[in-house]
Amino acid sequence: MQETIFSKIIRREIPATIVYEDEEILAFKDINPKAPIHILIIPKKIIPTVNDIEPSDAELIGKLVLAAKKIAKEKGVAENGYRLVFNCNKDGGQEVFHLHCHLLAGKKLKWEF
Ligand code: AMP
Repeated sequence: MQETIFSKIIRREIPATIVYEDEEILAFKDINPKAPIHILIIPKKIIPTVNDIEPSDAELIGKLVLAAKKIAKEKGVAENGYRLVFNCNKDGGQEVFHLHCHLLAGKKLKWEF
């Protein structure tokens, strides 16, 4: 699987503000935040896009969403709400081909394209 900048973050080869880590998942602040709270939650395993998720990854993806839920609670935004986004490929606006979930929060988010 092709490595990306996120592999370097996992290995601490480039800096990131890490907000959560366990054996399988890492979460860190987005370098170019689109909302007051913008965190990326990634599996340590390289899965390039949502299209590459296999049935055997189901538990891992579940853990990723549970990590997002935990972070939202820790950041104090669970009650007011937040948005979880997976961009996939060109039309989805994906730029980094290592699966990641954007957690966006801290203001009332718009829904327009
Ligand atoms: P996407 O467009 O869904 O692939 O999102 C990639 C995200 O990664 C963007 O929101 C970028 O701002 C973010 N990003 C890229 N490089 C870094 C980095 N070194 N540290 C933190 N976030 C990054």
